[in-house]
Amino acid sequence: MKRQEMPVAALQNGTVIDHIPSNKLFQVVNLLHLDTMKTPVTIGYNLKSKKMGKKSIIKVADKFFSDEELNQLSVITPNVTLCIIRDYDVVEKKEVRMPSELTDIVKCANPKCITNNEPMRTRFRVLDKELGIIQCHYCNREVTLDQVKLL
Ligand SMILES: [Zn+2]
Repeated sequence: MKRQEMPVAALQNGTVIDHIPSNKLFQVVNLLHLDTMKTPVTIGYNLKSKKMGKKSIIKVADKFFSDEELNQLSVITPNVTLCIIRDYDVVEKKEVRMPSELTDIVKCANPKCITNNEPMRTRFRVLDKELGIIQCHYCNREVTLDQVKLL
């Protein structure tokens, strides 16, 4: 019998973020602040995927993100799969949903905006989830998500 390949070790408890486009992996790492995590983080980069060709996967042990944290991912990777693992079992699958507000992920396109001139968090209201139109809370500048710069 051929042993199945296990490129990334199984997780006892924690969160698995799967089907990340490989070119977005490091943005996801930054967005979830995985560099400051105290628990083990396993990253699989450029793994084979039937669905995507190449994909990346992140496993974070003993960490359960809030919906608010996970929904921020919708800016860069709306189609990832999120699995909550308890005792080696998938107890919950979640989808990333565009939140009604984006906090501290996106840079305002207006150079005169206070957020570009003061050390402060950015805030955007999501005006249209389908079209991805967001508006700066401070200067009201509107931008679409495909044009935004991430912080
Ligand atoms: Zn602004």
